Amino acid sequence: MWSKAVLLLCFCLPISLSTPAIAAHSADTATVELTTAFLIETGPRLNPSTAAELWHKGQFTPYADTLALGLGSKPVWIALKLHNDTGRQLERSLLLDTAWLDEIRLYHYRGPRLHHQVVAGDLQPFANRNPLLTGFLFPLELSPGEHLVLLRISTPDPMLLPLRLLDDEQLEHLPLQRLTSYGLSYGFLLALIFYNTALFFGIRDRHHLLYALYLGSFLLVNLAYSGHGLAWFWSEATEWQRWAPPTLMILFGCCGLLFASSFLHIRQYCSRGYRVVQLAAALALLSLTGGWLMDSQLVALSAAFMFMLVFTSLMLLMGLCRVTQGSVSARFYLLAVISGTCGTVITTLAVLGHLPFREWSFRAAEIGMLAEATLLALALAARIRHVHREQIQAEHAANTDPLTLLNNRRALYRLAERYWQTGNRRRRPLSAAVLDIDHFKQCNDTHGHAAGDRVLCLLGQCVLNTVREGDLTARWGGEEFLVLLPDTNLEDAGRFAARLLEQISLTQLTLNGRLIEVTASIGIAEQSEQDRSLDDLIGRADQALYEAKHQGRNRIFQQQMGTDGNDQLSEVLIHESAG
Ligand code: GH3
Ligand code: MG
Ligand code: MG
Repeated sequence: MWSKAVLLLCFCLPISLSTPAIAAHSADTATVELTTAFLIETGPRLNPSTAAELWHKGQFTPYADTLALGLGSKPVWIALKLHNDTGRQLERSLLLDTAWLDEIRLYHYRGPRLHHQVVAGDLQPFANRNPLLTGFLFPLELSPGEHLVLLRISTPDPMLLPLRLLDDEQLEHLPLQRLTSYGLSYGFLLALIFYNTALFFGIRDRHHLLYALYLGSFLLVNLAYSGHGLAWFWSEATEWQRWAPPTLMILFGCCGLLFASSFLHIRQYCSRGYRVVQLAAALALLSLTGGWLMDSQLVALSAAFMFMLVFTSLMLLMGLCRVTQGSVSARFYLLAVISGTCGTVITTLAVLGHLPFREWSFRAAEIGMLAEATLLALALAARIRHVHREQIQAEHAANTDPLTLLNNRRALYRLAERYWQTGNRRRRPLSAAVLDIDHFKQCNDTHGHAAGDRVLCLLGQCVLNTVREGDLTARWGGEEFLVLLPDTNLEDAGRFAARLLEQISLTQLTLNGRLIEVTASIGIAEQSEQDRSLDDLIGRADQALYEAKHQGRNRIFQQQMGTDGNDQLSEVLIHESAG
């Protein structure tokens, strides 16, 4: 029963995109009374007069709702008793609102006389059908009195038979309603398909292409079942129309599985599940090929519908698996697939008569699929955000010293390029200060490496507290820091260094009740015309630092290029600078 339900659900979708199916009995107009009954042709083929006889004998079963007999049903006879009590001739159209039925024969009896007969079905070229009402439309001339209309329908597809009796006004409005409703759905899907294809070409993320394929295959399934494919694209290719539904359904399922397993990284995180997905897709394709080879539409359709059941379950299971593993984008995905599935289940139950057959219940599958498409688009967007955030984090990690959270040497070189260029171009001064902690090895040896790390963090903090906006700081090496000071000449750099040493001297670090004394030495230099690169400038500041160490530490030295081109090293006196 359930498989039948799911088998039907895909077939309901195309009609659900149009208008609600209206049960035959409720299609009565004010002037025509209509009763319906059906008979399944279990034995040899009945001719219309025998069928009419059986109807007169009461062998037909009256029914009041849309008839739905599932896949591979035996041929069905439907008898419509129409009564025109207006006293004048009426023009009506009988709409059998299922586009995929293979063969329909209509016999119109006026009393015992066969008034006229028509043969229709989707194995005939589309030319004679209404391109907007893709079901089968039969004009009826109803003279006053009683009429019997017999329909014999045979198809291996699901026997779903919504009937409507339309007057001229309804016939005029219905196509427009259909056009609007299909137009919205197709337009929505097409927009998403184009958008995701464009995104794929823009950002080269194959998930967008796979998603566009999945949506495209869904659109094709819809085209096949709504009859629009036959109406608009393959109107003469009736042989293809026979095979289009199962083929496109299996294509749709495969595209869905391909997209979901790639989007959720199933191969990576759930390798056994991935093999099941591959197996399911392979079996579906094999059965479809079997159907083709045996020339059995029923085999192909059964395979397609079974596959739809497996496909829906796998889509849900993959999402559940990844959500339990903590994937964030899988949550959107799961929500999307659940809404799609809920919609189709509601529609299915409605079609099978377990829920009232109303517009909302009949269109639930369509709404579900549109919601699914929207949520999947959000899932893809969430994924883009996630990847983007990871990129930023990775970039940040690659440029940051993990201990002091200052720039590392790599980041400094990258960022300093701009300072160097701007300084050169605008002829603005640029200075560098290199700081090295004094006797840090000893600090480590005495207090331990962890205490050394805390000292490094604290020193980093001192540097950050002393610099002004626009200065560039970095942990240059083990216990060395570098500060690039744009728009700063040597004198101001000296002041900065003095402030920094003062700040360090004020910073007190106690460990196990003992005060750790930390001092540092600083070398500074200002960019000169002889510096050909940043390394030259830093090299001169380093020279000054070396001299500061040499001269007893806890002091600042500056390196200056003399007018004679010789290096000059001199101490920057702290109290003078600070003043
Ligand atoms: P000087 O005054 O001449 O600079 O002497 P120093 O001991 O500070 O210099 P030296 O180059 O001899 O030793 C530097 C020490 O810094 C040695 C190394 O173990 C330590 N060091 C480097 N990186 C880290 C770190 O990340 N954490 C800790 N705790 N120590 C570090
Ligand atoms: Mg040192
Ligand atoms: Mg050192």
